[in-house]
Amino acid sequence: MTNDALSQAQAAYAELKARGLKLNMQRGQPSDADFDLSNGLLTVLTEADLKMDGLDLRNYPGGVAGIPSARKLCAEYLDVKAENVLVWNNASLELQGLVLTFALLHGLRGSRGPWAHGKPKMIVTVPGYDRHFLLLETLGFELLTVDMQPDGPDLDAVEKIAGQDDSVKGILFVPTYSNPGGETISAEKAARLAGLKAAAADFTIFADDAYRAHHLSDDRDTPVNFVTLCRDAGFPDRAFVFASTSKITFAGAGLGFMASSEDNIKWVSKYLNAQSIGPNKLEQARHVKFLEAYEGGLEALMRDHARLIEPKFRVVNEVLGRELGTGGEFATWGNPKGGYFISLDTTAPVAQRVVQLADEAGISLTPAGATYPGGKDPHNRNIRLAPTRPPLEEVGTAMQGIATCIRLATEEHRASQQQR
Ligand code: PMP
Repeated sequence: MTNDALSQAQAAYAELKARGLKLNMQRGQPSDADFDLSNGLLTVLTEADLKMDGLDLRNYPGGVAGIPSARKLCAEYLDVKAENVLVWNNASLELQGLVLTFALLHGLRGSRGPWAHGKPKMIVTVPGYDRHFLLLETLGFELLTVDMQPDGPDLDAVEKIAGQDDSVKGILFVPTYSNPGGETISAEKAARLAGLKAAAADFTIFADDAYRAHHLSDDRDTPVNFVTLCRDAGFPDRAFVFASTSKITFAGAGLGFMASSEDNIKWVSKYLNAQSIGPNKLEQARHVKFLEAYEGGLEALMRDHARLIEPKFRVVNEVLGRELGTGGEFATWGNPKGGYFISLDTTAPVAQRVVQLADEAGISLTPAGATYPGGKDPHNRNIRLAPTRPPLEEVGTAMQGIATCIRLATEEHRASQQQR
């Protein structure tokens, strides 16, 4: 007996392969058009700007928390006061690593001792961001996973895990337009997390707010403010919030910054001061001046990004819906209101096969499993789609190809099940 659906899928795939495509849907990077919006950074500073905030930007003095006008800018972005902010160098991941390392070596303010003296565990959400897993695993944390739900982490699971084990030191996750699912934590869940009764007195929320302002349209999710929520819940030192300008101006060539209680900012400053005289003040001044000069400010810049990015997200949704249907026969996927990624789940356990088929047809995808610790998706279903970097036409072509691969992998799986 012939299997029509399988042979049709095979024929479509052969056609796809014959096209000799070379497309990349793997990289969570801005496009050149996104970068071009910030090219003004290259020339915005002049000799007249060498003194800012009473500091000579060419010289050492200034401290580790960042120049005042950069702290003010980043504080507005994170909806806190300037005293609650520290602006560091080019990447928020580095700051996350520094804070976690200081906690391991010295303990946080509320800790009984260095975290490294025990066997520290950290909760992460899945599917999630592979670099969070890499960072935590490299530092020696044991990772405990909870599901990311449409309104944020599965808090029943978090409460259970953190409530009974004092080696669970916290949770690291993306609160707004998460990587890869685009979920935003609800106000209700955020308040619950801020006031969570944990076994560890120093249970900490590490909120990587990388996509806080990265809305696709005026239909927006509302970002939460963990610094205020934790203060109001009676745990003023519980939250560290991280962000950067990597997806605002230049990726990895802007400002990484964080917000926390004033006491925590002093705590982290003490350790940073031992290893650096201070961050790059010229970069901070350049960003302040550029963003102040941008017509309409940062909000307008983010709208200009949205104009470039939203059509790409729309195409992903349209092509998948057209090629695979919206009933979940082959896959389900998110339709986020912001961020950089779309998370797709194949209905059959075929994510790895889809990525392999796509690769052989010249379309590179994020490796299957990358959204789980250890690179292992227990269900073999999740695929992260990153549509921001390629031009719009390429996103459409790539998504058609990916849909062809999903169909073939699914039909292969069904055929193999029938043979059993
Ligand atoms: N956090 C998340 C959630 C990200 O998706 C990314 C970029 N892919 C980063 C952090 C990296 O940010 P930075 O360049 O500031 O280190």
